[in-house]
Amino acid sequence: MKIFGEYDVVVVGGGTSGVAAAVASARAGANTILIERFGALGGQMNVSGPPGFSFAHLWNNYGEQCLAGFVEETHHRLEKDGLAVPYPKPKDRHASSFVLVDPDWWGLMVFEMMTENGVNLLLHSLAVDVLKKGGSVTGVIVENTSGRMAVLGRVVIDCSGEGDIAMRAGAPYEQVSKDEYEIEPPSISFTMDGVDWDRVLQHMRESPEDVIFQRREMFLPPEEGIKFRKEYLKRVKSIDDMLLLGSISYRQLTRDLVARGELHPYGDLGFFFTPREGGKVQAIFQHSSQVPQCDTTDVRELTAGEVEARRQVVIAARAARKYIPGFENAYLTRITSYLRIRETRRIMGDYKITLDDVYESRKFEDVIGKSVMTMGGHHVANIDTLSQFPGKGGAKDGSFDLPYRILVPQKVENMLVAGKMVSTDRDCYLRFLPETMITGQAAGVAAAVCVKKAVTPRQLERDIKEVQDILVKQGAILFGTR
Ligand SMILES: Cc1cc2nc3c(=O)[nH]c(=O)nc-3n(C[C@H](O)[C@H](O)[C@H](O)COP(=O)(O)OP(=O)(O)OC[C@H]3O[C@@H](n4cnc5c(N)ncnc54)[C@H](O)[C@@H]3O)c2cc1C
Repeated sequence: MKIFGEYDVVVVGGGTSGVAAAVASARAGANTILIERFGALGGQMNVSGPPGFSFAHLWNNYGEQCLAGFVEETHHRLEKDGLAVPYPKPKDRHASSFVLVDPDWWGLMVFEMMTENGVNLLLHSLAVDVLKKGGSVTGVIVENTSGRMAVLGRVVIDCSGEGDIAMRAGAPYEQVSKDEYEIEPPSISFTMDGVDWDRVLQHMRESPEDVIFQRREMFLPPEEGIKFRKEYLKRVKSIDDMLLLGSISYRQLTRDLVARGELHPYGDLGFFFTPREGGKVQAIFQHSSQVPQCDTTDVRELTAGEVEARRQVVIAARAARKYIPGFENAYLTRITSYLRIRETRRIMGDYKITLDDVYESRKFEDVIGKSVMTMGGHHVANIDTLSQFPGKGGAKDGSFDLPYRILVPQKVENMLVAGKMVSTDRDCYLRFLPETMITGQAAGVAAAVCVKKAVTPRQLERDIKEVQDILVKQGAILFGTR
């Protein structure tokens, strides 16, 4: 087979985890290639995104910052150019605070970072299989317009989102069965412009009972929601002040429209406020088209899901225009190009994070990052789309550690995984954007250290001090928070 090239580190998938892994690996001295099936980088951040609360959950409930490194660097680069909402004031920093970025500029900026750090790129190339010698991966096979070719590497990092590559390498995985559980729905997000924001605000002030401030009311008893809204709105001068709120939902309107058959039953007529360049605000609907019980690892269901999601976009966009005050002249400006997949495979590693680890705020010697989240498989497809925390609602003392071993797949050598597929129980599925960058950055550094020390990722488990030192130098937070 034709050989495209030979590298120290091969990263498959250019989403948030993949770009973080590639930059971190190159900065740690490895000759790195990033392979992406499309022409754009960013994955669910901006290509099949943009999500509304991209940089949420950086702090614990004591207000201590727990997540940094690549995730913070990319925020700060955009903030410098007015393309990201600044961090909230220290008193407002907690596990559910929001920091939003302009997703399209994020997608452009990561290309700059590839060039600056000397990452080799192989775009428009679908990784279709792995090359193996015994149990060790030695590279991947890609298909592209030039044909079929091999990309050789000393360590391969699967950042494909769905774990397709680790699975092909023989790594065991877990995935919920739709016979037993409600699978988190895949979605098509869309944006609307031409909104009369003054009218939106006016309606909210006149009828605060019509909207809910989804993310901020999550921890409030329902009766306190309306009080919170009224107080919040008193401080709002213009629509920019809504950016820290994340999202709103017209929950009662949604219920009424579904009951009248004017809205499909799987959407929430609500949207995120997202900052766009020039100080503009855009409405992003990411819970308005949701396909129930779609097993996206079955290509027939995936195909049917794409059709169904677009059908729902048409219905939801028309309903928004007809019924949301201020949206009378709004128009669709972007529909994400492919289905955004929430829940698929979790690749089982040498450690699996459990809810107990989360609730006990467990710390690990092989820490490579932190999380303050417990949201996992609890986003449902019907109109109660508010993600539910399982049980107690978050790391009790602030944050829990992510151990290196969740990146090392069982039964396969010379491979690491990063992003939403890392080894966790379903209840603490690490699918949120900041965490995907945390695990990506760690996998990139670890792969580079493996190459330098001539050890496998599994052998590196014995001593990851050098990985931790490099991560800290790259800005990551590993120690010293609750
Ligand atoms: C509807 C929805 C809303 C969400 N909202 C939020 C939110 O508001 N905040 C938040 O923090 N998180 C949110 N998430 C979760 C978050 O967006 C994702 O979990 C995260 O972006 C996943 O990152 P990743 O790097 O693991 O995978 P992805 O971003 O999916 O990246 C995978 C990349 O690999 C490429 N790829 C895949 N297979 C191959 C292959 N074989 N060969 C080559 N390239 C390949 C893909 O094209 C893609 O670029 C949401 C998810 C969904 C679905």
